[in-house]
Amino acid sequence: MLTDSEFEKVTEEVFKFHTKRAPGLAIGVAMVDLARDLLGPVKGRLNVISETQACLSDAIQIMTGCTTGNRYLRVLKDLGRYALTLFDREDGRGVRVFIDLKKIDAEKTPELYRFFRRERGDAVKKGGNAREVSGATILGEFMQVKRDIFGSQRVKVIDHGKPTMLRARVCGECMESFLSRDETHDKCDFCSGKSRYFVQA
Ligand SMILES: [Zn+2]
Repeated sequence: MLTDSEFEKVTEEVFKFHTKRAPGLAIGVAMVDLARDLLGPVKGRLNVISETQACLSDAIQIMTGCTTGNRYLRVLKDLGRYALTLFDREDGRGVRVFIDLKKIDAEKTPELYRFFRRERGDAVKKGGNAREVSGATILGEFMQVKRDIFGSQRVKVIDHGKPTMLRARVCGECMESFLSRDETHDKCDFCSGKSRYFVQA
């Protein structure tokens, strides 16, 4: 478990990486810290699945060295739960840490309560000063409860092995190299229209 000064130091690093002092980052740091404690040493490579693309994935990348680039971090961005699973790639043994809403007291930590229920007002949504004040309040409230609002479970990750690398192929249309899913996949997803994200300017 991180000491208070270690917690502060790593949280500052994550704030810097993320370029904003979002309260979800400090909460993420505490979540990764708990998951690490519960998982203990691993036989193979430490891997992580983040169930959200928000703040949490940045805390994971700084603290574990598992990144989207080295593919030790998988982000399930469409799932959208504020949770992560830390696991051993060798055998799939893992620990999942999540926000247990039942453990957040609406009276003791009201802003934290609203934060995880997405019930903060319109002024906060607009950003600016209201958002900053709310963020600082959430952080203050969280520091009083820390791990107490988390739930955890032992899990076995289904596809825990090294992800298979798809074969590279040259697209018949744009003539760029792309990753091909199977024999019939001979045109890249941009040219076939599936991943079109720009138009010619
Ligand atoms: Zn193409």
